[in-house]
This record gives sequence, C-alpha cells and structure tokens, in this order.
Amino acid sequence: MEARRNDERWRRFQTLELNLMRSRSLPEMLRTILYDSRAGFGWDMITLTLIDPEYEIHRLLDSTSTPRADFPELLLCEDLNHIDSLFEHGRRPTLGSYRARIHTAIFPKSEQRIGSVAILPLIRNRKLVGSLNLASYNRDKFREDSATDFMEHLAAVVSVCLETAENRERLRFIGLTDGLTGVNNRRFFDQRLHEELERARRDSVSLGCLFIDLDRFKKINDTYGHQAGDDVLRHVAQLIREQLRTIDVVARYGGEEFAVLLAQADINLAMEIAERIRKSIEQWEYDPEIEMQVCVSVGVATTEHIGSSENIEEIAHKLVKAADEAVYRAKESGRNQVVSYYAEGEQLSPS
Ligand code: GH3
Ligand code: MG
Ligand code: MG
Repeated sequence: MEARRNDERWRRFQTLELNLMRSRSLPEMLRTILYDSRAGFGWDMITLTLIDPEYEIHRLLDSTSTPRADFPELLLCEDLNHIDSLFEHGRRPTLGSYRARIHTAIFPKSEQRIGSVAILPLIRNRKLVGSLNLASYNRDKFREDSATDFMEHLAAVVSVCLETAENRERLRFIGLTDGLTGVNNRRFFDQRLHEELERARRDSVSLGCLFIDLDRFKKINDTYGHQAGDDVLRHVAQLIREQLRTIDVVARYGGEEFAVLLAQADINLAMEIAERIRKSIEQWEYDPEIEMQVCVSVGVATTEHIGSSENIEEIAHKLVKAADEAVYRAKESGRNQVVSYYAEGEQLSPS
C-alpha cells in the first residue's frame, strides 16, 4: 500500500518536472509551481519565497504581460533574514506542525487553519536563494519524521528550473531594453502597442500615444559633446517615467525620440500627462554652470478617432502616424510644446 502510494507520488512528480521544464516563461513556470502542483499532491496551499535584493525579479516580471499582482503567493524579499531562520536542520527541508510565530510570514493569506507545513530550501551555487512553502490543513500531512528525499528532489528541480526561466527572461529583457536609458526599446514598444490595442478594444476604452522628440538636440551634442548628450537622454527618460502611471509604457523609439503608451487615456488625460512631461523637462536644470535649455516637442494621439472595426495592425499604424504628425506640427509651431492630432494645425493650449 505504502509502496504503491510512493510510486504514484513519483509518477506525479515526473509529470510536474516535465511541465516545469516545458514552461516557456517565468510566469508560466510560476503558475506550474504555485497552482498545477497543488491539486496533484493534495497540498492545500503553496507559496514561494525568493530573495530579490536588487529587485531584478520584480523588473523581469513587470516586463512580462503578466502583472506581479497575479501571483499573491510569490513573496519577494530583500534579504535572507526572512527565510534563513525557517531551516532548523541546516539547509534541509523542514517538515512539521504549523507555528504561527514562524510561519505567518510565509503564509500571509491563510484563511483556514493550517495544520502542518513543509519548507523546502531552494539552493543555487550553494547559496540559499528562496524557499518553496507547502501547507496542509491536515496536521499529519507533513510530519517531522516523514521521509524527505522526495522533498529534496522537488526543491532541487524547482530551483534549477527557476534559474533557467530567470535566465531566459533576462535575455528577453535585455533584448527589449535600451542600453543607454534603461527604458524599453522600440521592439518592445511595437509588441506592447499591439497588446495594448487588443486590450483597449476588449475593454472599449481609448489608448493614448505620445511621441516626444528633444528640441535642437544636435546642438547640445555639438556644443557640449556626445557625453553630455547621453546624460541628457538618460535624464529625460527618467523625467518621463516619473510622470507616468505604472500601467503606462515608455520606450526609446529612435535616437532622441521617446514614445509613450497611455492605458485608458482619452485625449484630455493624454494632453494633461503630455504637458506635465513637457513642463518637467523644461524645468530641469542640467548643470547651473552650463547654460543649456533642454526641452521637447510632444505629439499626442488617441484611438478615439480610429474606427475600432479596423484590424489591429492598421490601428497601430494610424495611431503612431497621428502622434508623429502631431510632433511635426509642434516643431513647426516653435517647439517646446504639446500638440494634439486633433488640433488640425493649430496648437491646443494645454490646460
Ligand atoms: P529638432 O528640434 O528638429 O528635433 O532638432 P534635433 O537637432 O533634435 O534633430 P536632428 O534629427 O537634426 O538631430 C538629432 C540628433 O540626435 C542627431 C544625433 O547625433 C543625436 N543623437 C541620436 N542618438 C543619440 C545618442 O544616443 N546619443 C547622443 N549623444 N546623441 C544622439
Ligand atoms: Mg528626432
Ligand atoms: Mg529632435
């Protein structure tokens, strides 16, 4: 009987292992670990603690289309202090009764009384990098004297698979990030534009798009050097970021041009955000010793004027073209200003 149960458990484990290895992204892997395994093994709750001192996992996840909020069971913590004390027997799995004093931190959302827990250390390069935390309402599910070879194996597999998924996500992230400014690159923008347009259509809301081009940037390079020019680009990217909400997307679209996607923004909101960005850049003082006025021209467009019946490709093209045309008009009207696609040649006075 016991032997058959054991066989069954290893068979399930192999299925889980295969699914983990097949996961193509970090979110997919997290779903496999946190949800798929639960039913298969009769565990009532699973959480995953990962040490993320540089907030890298935060950033990697935020760059995927799955928001971090989708994984309340993923607990990212800054240092080892949070989990080190969980392992009483060195870095081996710890099984036994639930003790609120120690375990509330790793099961923060338990609505029902937890009876027993299994805490599995995740080790990478001989270092503790996190823990996989299993809970059962049954007090006898995880007992101190249970055999832990299965648990050790599970922890090793999860640890290796997570590392692979993180590495893959890291490569993808680098490929979608601009090396100079740290914001997204154009490839990312084009991908997200499509996703955001699909979302906007589904939710029947408008999507805003800003094109932001630095004014007379060539002169900055020519006068103060390329290095100063690079500093300005980095700082402008930061200033744009500061004016955006977390749901918005900013990308370096070209040399000295940024593009922004504003989720759920009608023309009024888009104009307001564009003007805030313009102003914050105008007010920035590069260096009191150097007299250098940095300013931008901003073109604003939203999907409001584009028929929703058209295909996404077509809408994307029209939206970008509209924002680009609006920038051109802002330049023609004297630069350092926000112009809406709707303004038909005249400048919309920012409120
Ligand atoms: P306008 O107001 O009409 O936009 O004038 P502009 O000088 O900004 O536009 P123009 O297209 O003539 O020049 C853009 C300049 O941006 C030329 C290029 O050297 C500079 N540039 C593009 N990428 C970079 C970069 O990565 N670093 C630096 N320092 N300069 C860059
Ligand atoms: Mg330009
Ligand atoms: Mg320019």
